Amino acid sequence: MKPRLQVMKFGGTSVGDASCMARAAQIVAQAGRNDAVVAVVSAMSGVTNRLVETANRAGIGDREAGSGLITALREQHNVALAALVPAETARAAVCRKLEEILAEGQRLFDGTALLRELTPRTLDAVSSLGERLCAPLFSAALAHLGARTEPVEATELIITDDFHGGAEPRMDLTRQHCESRLRPLLKEACIPVVTGFIGATAKGVLTTLGRGGSDYSATILGAALDADEIIIWTDVDGVLTADPRLVPNARTIAEISYREAAELAYFGAKVLHPKTLRAVAPAGIPVWIRNSFTPERVGTKITPQGRSVGGVKALTAIRDVALISLGGPGIVGVPDVIGRTFSTTAEVRANVLLISQSSSQNDICFIVPQSDAQRTVEALRHEFSQDLAHEVVEHITMDPNIAIVAVVGENMRGTPGVAGRTFSAMGRENINIIAIAQGSSETNISFVIEDKSVKHALLTTHREFGLDAVVPE
Ligand code: ASP
Ligand code: MG
Repeated sequence: MKPRLQVMKFGGTSVGDASCMARAAQIVAQAGRNDAVVAVVSAMSGVTNRLVETANRAGIGDREAGSGLITALREQHNVALAALVPAETARAAVCRKLEEILAEGQRLFDGTALLRELTPRTLDAVSSLGERLCAPLFSAALAHLGARTEPVEATELIITDDFHGGAEPRMDLTRQHCESRLRPLLKEACIPVVTGFIGATAKGVLTTLGRGGSDYSATILGAALDADEIIIWTDVDGVLTADPRLVPNARTIAEISYREAAELAYFGAKVLHPKTLRAVAPAGIPVWIRNSFTPERVGTKITPQGRSVGGVKALTAIRDVALISLGGPGIVGVPDVIGRTFSTTAEVRANVLLISQSSSQNDICFIVPQSDAQRTVEALRHEFSQDLAHEVVEHITMDPNIAIVAVVGENMRGTPGVAGRTFSAMGRENINIIAIAQGSSETNISFVIEDKSVKHALLTTHREFGLDAVVPE
């Protein structure tokens, strides 16, 4: 009988130091006793941020920053290695591999500082170092537990387009590479430890899948190998009904649909990279979110349908956003205001998170991340300068003190009154709603409130839909 195949991904905190890594390696070794397993690892926590920061400093000519970081990374990885692998000979081989990668990093920083230019391609090469250092280390920890294992760089497996900083996989080629490079290892009960986050173009140039992209690496590999399941091991118990820092009664959701999970990811619940489920959607492979620090808990299972009960599953809030509104009674008469507004946001690459237009058509408002807000408003004032001068458009304003609350659940369409109940609850609690939007998928209802009311709004909605209730697993 063909053994089951699991792809297990460990995030930065799950491999954050030697003891976390030992715990993660235990989980993999144990699964490997019965099943075929592919492990995917992120960089040790914080490493990618430091790499990116240092690359930016090198890009403006700082020649010292690179060596400082390389020294710190050498120290950090060697300390972990010493704790994880007592055998001198096993350690020496890993050490050599780490030194090779560190030397490559040093050359990248030197070249960048010399040229005072950081290209997207170089930034990808630099940011990949964390995963490339982690995989051999993790594989050595696994070998120490008696498993057969081999570190593999995903540049040999995941073939992508050449969009640096956010590359997309080419699944046909990725499948072929996984078959020829990983399948033989799996047949020999060897556990490949693959670097998350990275891939390469068909010509072999290293790319990254975007920050937080190791989740996506896991589902890409899972889909390419027709895995039975994918487990994302992280530092929370799964997908929660709300952010527990704001809603103390939040609880882990046992099962949730792809669409619901994607909606939550998009709206800032940071458990999953938003693209993660794209790769598994065609095959419907289940994805688990589990806590590597409490592996006895079952976590959340993400499946194509979820549990088909409709209604509200979870809440999420996006803060650090700004509301931009453009309007005045005159705008009814201006042709193509909407078209011009959103061509302008597209030109400045503002990420529009929510749009709403009042029915009298004299006000268009939309929400962008705070980091995009200033340049968006400036571009709009420029675009509409004539109309503003003639008072056809009366105002273009920005309000940064707002937040979006999203109520997420499949089939809310089949559950009448969700919007009504949400908004009456807000009314009862005197929480002022500034704008409302409902996606056409009806998987979410989002509304805009003042940022200072976020906690109150979440607590109220959470209670209103009975999400506080303790449901036996
Ligand atoms: N190490 C990468 C990052 O921090 C990828 C990941 O952790 O998923 O963005
Ligand atoms: Mg991460």
